[in-house]
Amino acid sequence: APEKEKTSNVAKIKVVVRKRPLNKKELAKNEEDIITVAPHSNSLTVHETKLKLLTMRTLCPRRVDLTEYMERHEFVFDAVLNEEVSNDEVYHETVEPIVPIIFQRTKATCFAYGQTGSGKTFTMKPLPLKASRDILRLVNHTYRSQGFQLYFSFFEIYGGKLFDLLNDRKKLCMREDGSKQVCIVGLQEYKVSDVETIKELIERGNATRSTGTTGANEESSRSHAILQLVVKRSVDGNTSKPPRVVGKLSFIDLAGSERGADTTDNDKQTRMEGAEINKSLLALKECIRALDNDQGHIPFRGSKLTEVLRDSFVGNSRTVMISCISPNAGSCEHTLNTLRYADRIF
Ligand code: ADP
Ligand code: MG
Repeated sequence: APEKEKTSNVAKIKVVVRKRPLNKKELAKNEEDIITVAPHSNSLTVHETKLKLLTMRTLCPRRVDLTEYMERHEFVFDAVLNEEVSNDEVYHETVEPIVPIIFQRTKATCFAYGQTGSGKTFTMKPLPLKASRDILRLVNHTYRSQGFQLYFSFFEIYGGKLFDLLNDRKKLCMREDGSKQVCIVGLQEYKVSDVETIKELIERGNATRSTGTTGANEESSRSHAILQLVVKRSVDGNTSKPPRVVGKLSFIDLAGSERGADTTDNDKQTRMEGAEINKSLLALKECIRALDNDQGHIPFRGSKLTEVLRDSFVGNSRTVMISCISPNAGSCEHTLNTLRYADRIF
């Protein structure tokens, strides 16, 4: 019972939106920033300019009241972070509160969702390192001599298949063991005890991720990257037996959400990948929603992504969704799609 009390004040599902600043290219094109953030009310507004407006303006430049063709969409989330918010603050708002409960048999997952270029990798990259630092502090100080150990792994899902990012993209397969734990056969798991090693592993995995054939963002935008920190404990201090999983913290840098719409592309490969991405993002939404409703049935089977995360959707689990959005007018449609996706989870 005391364990339950300790973990209950951390929300089961938290949805956070992060807006990035306009980039150089957008500034050079004089693109408008169409997102206004009201951090104190956890809300943001998208100021959409209807295409019709532009047409009207050319047809009868004087007589049209332009404001009629502006549409405002307001959204409220658990937290809304504007372009001035640092990565440290993002960590504080999202993952930091979860770290201690990993030691109380919790499996937690942090997702970065959004269109390519919206800041998913920028947001996600520093989080595991900051979390590891805090986890190791607990292992080495607070829970000293209690037999806790930290393990690290990093893989990706590309076209519905699993590849190890720390072992030359070795193809992996998944199975479920007797106790319904997800087991990824052949996945390299590193026992880690210092942040330097963790930093190296993160960089190695990220480098492997972006060295595909077509260059950085192109490849990585079509895969989901999954970095896992697993806390294990030797049974009764018995070091000859394999340690048992206590808790898990997974960081998922999702495929570009716009890729799920690549289902009409001329290229067959692209089309198939698009269909797979679409399927996995829809299945993910359903699984998170099911978590929130405490539904008995959770629809894992919908995709490889949700099957891999199966054990993080049952029992004592926590989910943080960070939805990343671009501020420029040209991204309006993708931004609205991202916010509607987040809104449906919420
Ligand atoms: P994604 O992974 O969603 O495709 P990235 O994380 O690669 O997008 O971000 C695209 C570009 O925008 C990168 O150059 C990144 O450094 C920059 N960027 C993203 N978010 C921010 C931010 N909050 N502040 C400053 N630069 C950012
Ligand atoms: Mg990326």
